[in-house]
Amino acid sequence: MKITDHIKKANGETLFSFEIVPPVKGKSIQELYNNIDPLMEFKPPFIDVTTSREEYIYKEKDGLLDKKLTRTRPGTLGICASLKHKYDVDTVPHVLCGGFTKEETEYLLVDCQYLEIENVMALRGDARKEEKYFAPTKGGHQYATELVKQIQDINQGNYLHDTIKSSDLSTFCIGVAGYPEKHMEAPSLQTDLKRLKQKVDLGADYVVTQMFFDNQKFFAFVEAAREMGIEVPIIPGIKPIAVKRHLQLLPHVFSIDLPEDLINAVEACKDNKEVRQVGVEWAIQQSKELREAGVPVLHYYSMGKSDNVKAIAKELF
Ligand SMILES: Cc1cc2nc3c(=O)[nH]c(=O)nc-3n(C[C@H](O)[C@H](O)[C@H](O)COP(=O)(O)OP(=O)(O)OC[C@H]3O[C@@H](n4cnc5c(N)ncnc54)[C@H](O)[C@@H]3O)c2cc1C
Repeated sequence: MKITDHIKKANGETLFSFEIVPPVKGKSIQELYNNIDPLMEFKPPFIDVTTSREEYIYKEKDGLLDKKLTRTRPGTLGICASLKHKYDVDTVPHVLCGGFTKEETEYLLVDCQYLEIENVMALRGDARKEEKYFAPTKGGHQYATELVKQIQDINQGNYLHDTIKSSDLSTFCIGVAGYPEKHMEAPSLQTDLKRLKQKVDLGADYVVTQMFFDNQKFFAFVEAAREMGIEVPIIPGIKPIAVKRHLQLLPHVFSIDLPEDLINAVEACKDNKEVRQVGVEWAIQQSKELREAGVPVLHYYSMGKSDNVKAIAKELF
């Protein structure tokens, strides 16, 4: 079922969902199941599965360093199929511009259709680790707008090199990213919102936001998006802080601010067990206020162990 239909069916009730990251190549999927199992009692209608960029690694060979391009966490689509089958839940693969040619993207979408995966998140992807700025892959897309267009073209039967007239065309429901504190490369929040509007005008059906820790930023973002004519559902992404290092890491990687009260509470913790508890309590407060404001879904970035997301979900669902 499409995410937008799940939202309609919920009739104003806030839904619970979360995002997971594929395991490192070679690891069993069992650990992932062990972390997902405790969350299924909260009946998520969908689970997102991230896609990781390819990266260069260096292997020593005959005394020299051999440079190899690899993907350490492949298997997004396989995991989506497994979770769908095991839990009877909709799964949303993240489809990236970076690292994929348009042809590869087309084949991925064809696989999604055979697997009856109806929802995809269309994302540009970040720059590769060794690059300062995102550089489009040869034969791939530069911006998520182009990816949204490719997916919508396929929904119309317009493949890259063929036009297919069929009654079995895909009807992908497309999610895109939004940034309450603006994307790190955007010159202003207003310009970033214009880009978001372009994605929606090209056919994106819903927006999932980057993590934020101050709900006022989310509310202002939604208001500005609505003023700009973005009418699709906007789903807040919530991450519970889990370790002290997040105080530096999250602003650095995601270009977001942390509220003073949260910083002070985390700094006062004597170990990461206490930090995890502070993270849970903060996320519960955030979630309650967001639900009160009528958000369609509360979407959690679980990243590994799910005990904290379970503790939050228990208070809300
Ligand atoms: C909910 C969510 C899930 C994510 N999942 C993943 C994942 O699984 N894997 C992963 O690698 N990354 C993921 N990301 C991170 C995302 O890939 C990065 O934030 C990336 O840098 C931008 O992706 P985007 O789709 O927002 O890009 P875009 O919408 O293409 O925007 C990128 C930048 O370009 C600007 N821009 C857009 N169009 C134009 C234009 N025509 N001209 C000039 N500038 C333009 C925008 O303002 C923005 O600054 C996720 C992010 C979110 C919020």
